[in-house]
Amino acid sequence: MLILMKSNPSKEQVDGVVAKITQLGYKPHLIPGEHDVAVGITGNETALDPETFIALDGVKECIPVTKPYKLAGRAFKKTDTSFQVGNATFGPGSFVVIAGPCAVESEEQTLRIARAVKAAGAAVLRGGAYKPRSSPYAFRGMGVDGLKILKLASKETGLPVITEALDPESLEKVYEYADIIQLGTRNMQNFSLLDLVGKLDKPVMLKRGMSATIEEWLQAAEYIMSGGNTKVILCERGVRSFDTNTRNMVDLGGVLAVRNLSHLPVCVDPSHGTGKRFMVTPMSRAALALGANAVMIDVHDRPAEALCDGPQAILPDEFAELVKTLRQLAPPLGLKLA
Ligand code: PEP
Ligand code: MN
Repeated sequence: MLILMKSNPSKEQVDGVVAKITQLGYKPHLIPGEHDVAVGITGNETALDPETFIALDGVKECIPVTKPYKLAGRAFKKTDTSFQVGNATFGPGSFVVIAGPCAVESEEQTLRIARAVKAAGAAVLRGGAYKPRSSPYAFRGMGVDGLKILKLASKETGLPVITEALDPESLEKVYEYADIIQLGTRNMQNFSLLDLVGKLDKPVMLKRGMSATIEEWLQAAEYIMSGGNTKVILCERGVRSFDTNTRNMVDLGGVLAVRNLSHLPVCVDPSHGTGKRFMVTPMSRAALALGANAVMIDVHDRPAEALCDGPQAILPDEFAELVKTLRQLAPPLGLKLA
């Protein structure tokens, strides 16, 4: 339920509504507008009766919210969410380019690639230290040593870093070292992990489950937000398809759908989405043209030697060309590259 207050309500009136919600055992969320104030209610397991609130002093209207996600949806918040990470703004008017190796493989490799993506114009550095792999025999990441390398690269380049947490143990470490915590496709519905990141004060990138509907994705975001962490970036990384020409099928229509349903910033990962180097540049251009707020791109200077996902990594030169093009495409669309 969303309670709309009459314009310019007094503090007592708002406090009264908040107190009533709390007294009933629910959670109030103040949503301030320019002249109006709304109070959203979460925590109720069944539909609420508007009569409970309409008689309270200063209340104009009670609107039932039927969607299973509330904080993540536009019913509670119409305007796009915007927040800053380093020099990058995730939100309207801005387009963030995140780039780096799929995995941190060594100090030399990460520093080389970090310098290259920084020089080309990336705003955030990516790199996995804890890698979720289909095979237990594949390279599973450098762990804390990898996080330390990322920190070093961040210090040298000035770029904030994003890296994945796989479980509560790695989350503790990732929280210490990263600027953005990534939750991967395989963990989108790891509800206890979602609860944990919901309690943290660092932005979270929530990748769409490879077979998740948009409703499920937004409910996963709701888990994080209901814990108090509202800095969530949604990332479309492709869904499972029947065709084998691409690794996954990037759901660009889904990006539009989720932008329509939610105020949260949306990133596209064309690297994991397509799995093919030659598709990464055109897909990134499409993401910008479509209204996504960011792209996250795998870059490797020696993709043939990469320990993870070499075939989808673009070379630093290709990446520099891509950023140049994105810089040209952005202004006519009212965007600025972060
Ligand atoms: C990644 O970004 O490194 C990754 C493993 O992605 P996903 O969870 O989308 O497969
Ligand atoms: Mn990868």
